[in-house]
Amino acid sequence: MNHRHQSGGEETLNPILLAKQERTADDIENIVELHYELHETFDRMVDLAPWNDLDLERLHNLGEAVKEIEFRLQEAWGFEQNAQYHSWWFQLPHCKCPILDNWDQLGTPYAITVTSCPYHGDKNV
Ligand SMILES: [Zn+2]
Repeated sequence: MNHRHQSGGEETLNPILLAKQERTADDIENIVELHYELHETFDRMVDLAPWNDLDLERLHNLGEAVKEIEFRLQEAWGFEQNAQYHSWWFQLPHCKCPILDNWDQLGTPYAITVTSCPYHGDKNV
């Protein structure tokens, strides 16, 4: 599974998975919309500085928004809403948690976080 951060429309969605999940045109529109929302949120995160207390609070709030988008994406794809399969939280701008290790843990209750991460160092997100 490859979840590179991308801003594209419907053409970037996996057509085999769309067919397998029996997605309707409305579902697809919803998925594309959620991807744009995700992309916008990431752009806002990039512009914030985690060493600034006010920005740090904003980052935490945007991190919560990403979590919500991940749940809505699972619903739009027709998957069970399960945070153990979320893959955006460890790819957030400024996140210091190990990406490859967390891909390996996907679908398990074991998330690998580092204390220096502005989002997950204190397990706030
Ligand atoms: Zn992190």
